[in-house]
Amino acid sequence: MRSASEGASRGPARLSAGAAAMDYLPVFLRLDARPVVVVGGGPVALRKVTWLRKAGALVTVVAPSLHAELAQQAARGELRHIADEFSPAHIAGAIAVVAATGDRATNAGVSSAARERGVPVNVVDDAELSTFIFPAIVDRSPIVVAVSSAGHAPVLARRVREQIEALLPERLGALARFMGARRRSVQRALGAFARRGFWERIAGGPVATHVLRGDLGQAERALGRELLTAQLTAPADRAGGALGEVYLIGAGPGDPDLLTLRALQLLQRADVILYDRLVSEAVLERARRDAELIFVGKESGSQDQQQRIHELLLRLAGEGKRVARLKGGDPFVFGRGGEEIEVLAAHGIPCTVVPGITAALAAAAAAELPLTHRRLASSVTLIAGHLSDGALPDWRFLANPQHTVVVYMGVAQLPDIVARLKAAGAAAGHPAAIIERATLPGQRILRGTLSNIVALAQAHRVEPPSILILGDVAAFAATEAGVAARRGAPAAGVSA
Ligand code: SAH
Repeated sequence: MRSASEGASRGPARLSAGAAAMDYLPVFLRLDARPVVVVGGGPVALRKVTWLRKAGALVTVVAPSLHAELAQQAARGELRHIADEFSPAHIAGAIAVVAATGDRATNAGVSSAARERGVPVNVVDDAELSTFIFPAIVDRSPIVVAVSSAGHAPVLARRVREQIEALLPERLGALARFMGARRRSVQRALGAFARRGFWERIAGGPVATHVLRGDLGQAERALGRELLTAQLTAPADRAGGALGEVYLIGAGPGDPDLLTLRALQLLQRADVILYDRLVSEAVLERARRDAELIFVGKESGSQDQQQRIHELLLRLAGEGKRVARLKGGDPFVFGRGGEEIEVLAAHGIPCTVVPGITAALAAAAAAELPLTHRRLASSVTLIAGHLSDGALPDWRFLANPQHTVVVYMGVAQLPDIVARLKAAGAAAGHPAAIIERATLPGQRILRGTLSNIVALAQAHRVEPPSILILGDVAAFAATEAGVAARRGAPAAGVSA
């Protein structure tokens, strides 16, 4: 038998001495087809009615007149409307009452009528008159999180709610339903002892990752494999046999607020994090507190180092760990992400790729330079400035100022890049901008043209990580700061 309250199976709870008493006990009330009375017909009442109806309550609204939306619901028969001033007889039979009139005297009347009859009552924004309160809700039904400040600071409760909202994957409810739908068959397949560990692995491993990405087919197959492993291995060996996985995560340009929600969620899940030189401290701060952090960036670019990263990924995932491979920007833009997923696929290790904001996009936003613009450019090319591997770019194509070129890893080769563009026909006045440390502390923006960008970069001692944007868009200036930067003498062209 499962107890009706989650987590209540550890014996009677003891209040430690000095523990603050809880003002309210959070409980989840089943309202399905039960009568609830809402007094008041305005927008506040509408909000409460919406939540009550979501939970299946039979709502009666008592109010002389109704908000248009409530009136429509009444007309459709979705709620009952009593077009009258409140009187205590209205709450007969109700299992809960909500007063949302905005008139304190009326609300107080509702409150005392309800209390006299022993019916729980909520008066909106008035904890004193209420015997129950509405929490701030994160709804991933059937998973629901309720947050309350016991009426002390609703704004704070809402902020907490927003933070939780960002952390909980959109498809968490789907995951709960996926697991719920398979409870019986797993119950038949595994003994009670094995089941708990099994579900822990499902919730924390690749099956959950697949569901949360929306890939139910993969999830089903992975669940089948887990079930088979669980049936074939003795319980004691099981931890060793668990399936690990890799999250290949784009960490964005450095500002942690530019992580995607999924990156954040998976960083909270990972046991181990392998990170590059470009991944900022601030981003690492967002990882699970007890995750192991491994720096793998020192000689980045060298084939040996890349080989070591592959070996590390295989070893850690092989041990059953959840490994986050965190890369600056986007993993698939000059990030060698392609090589890593090839290796993982060859070894059958599940991998999830999470895109990140690549440096070109971050730099463009930081400098307020649109990469495309109806008047200025309708195409963009991202190139690597070291000009060593891969096919060399077609410089004549790139020399067109109506085509935007973004050069990664180009600081050291700047003179060479400028020379090649000029040789391919680019004008001396071809606009150029350098964005150093985009979104990071100490960000700098330099604006110039092919004729002076090399001198500017030298004068200001530009260092990596920096990115170069070439083309008419690099002279774009919509704001005053941009105009000043474009017109100014070289020094004024720097904004830090
Ligand atoms: N995968 C990364 C790029 C890695 S290559 C991405 O998608 O952004 C490394 C180059 O990216 C650096 O040499 C620099 O040109 C650029 N870069 C990365 N972060 C940057 C930042 N915060 N500001 C400016 N350029 C950056």
